[in-house]
Amino acid sequence: MSGLHIPIGTPDGSRTPHAENLLAPNPSAMTLDGTNTWVIGAGDEVVVVDPGPEDESHLRRVRDHLGERRVTQILLTHGHFDHSGGAKRFAAMVNAPVRALDPRHRLGDEGLDDGDVVTVAGLEIHVYGTPGHSFDSLCFWLPQDRAMLTGDTVLGRGTTIIARDGGLADYLRSLDRLRAAAEGLRAQALLPGHGPVLPDPIGALDGYIAHRRERLDQIRAAREQGARTPREIVKIVYADVDRSLWPAAEMSVLAQLDYLDRL
Ligand SMILES: [Zn+2]
Repeated sequence: MSGLHIPIGTPDGSRTPHAENLLAPNPSAMTLDGTNTWVIGAGDEVVVVDPGPEDESHLRRVRDHLGERRVTQILLTHGHFDHSGGAKRFAAMVNAPVRALDPRHRLGDEGLDDGDVVTVAGLEIHVYGTPGHSFDSLCFWLPQDRAMLTGDTVLGRGTTIIARDGGLADYLRSLDRLRAAAEGLRAQALLPGHGPVLPDPIGALDGYIAHRRERLDQIRAAREQGARTPREIVKIVYADVDRSLWPAAEMSVLAQLDYLDRL
């Protein structure tokens, strides 16, 4: 895509023609480099997606970066704290409403759901309901840039987890839906909630889908070997994964056991 810009070493400053990433300073094993705050717009109006955690320095940096441009709306990809924690404070700073699928995270009258189209300065943002990582996960398609903001449904590196408020059956359906959309819409980039921009959407989604199937097969095999508890399964299936991620892996295993037991 002309205008796709992926800086080396940090997702900060990643760009498509109408979207730009300002990275929040909250790196961790779970959040990779930190949370990506996406500014979408043209001319003097913008929409801000995921203000990030409640971090005053980050929120001020985003506001200062916008200069004279007006924030018409704040959108959330989902309600997890690393994306939504700063929303209320940022909303007060720029005097804009917050729209999210989960009413608990809204500020103002309008919600946000599958099929909605948000417009800003002549640009369209199409909302896709993609539950799984969390029950309230949304993705945002930017037709003018052929780019999909994926929140935590697809990350720029590694794989995502199924949180306690998500579900694997939903997640697999959402990945299939995104795969079909990426193909049908000829997507040219995925703009994730953490990590770098992915310039090969179909390749990335195929990788995610294959990885999930593979993990499910590994869990079935671990059970056949006698592993019973999530911890026992993690020790076998996630042996190659850094131990700091094992608690998250256990959560993922729980989601997978739940899925397998319902088949
Ligand atoms: Zn996140």
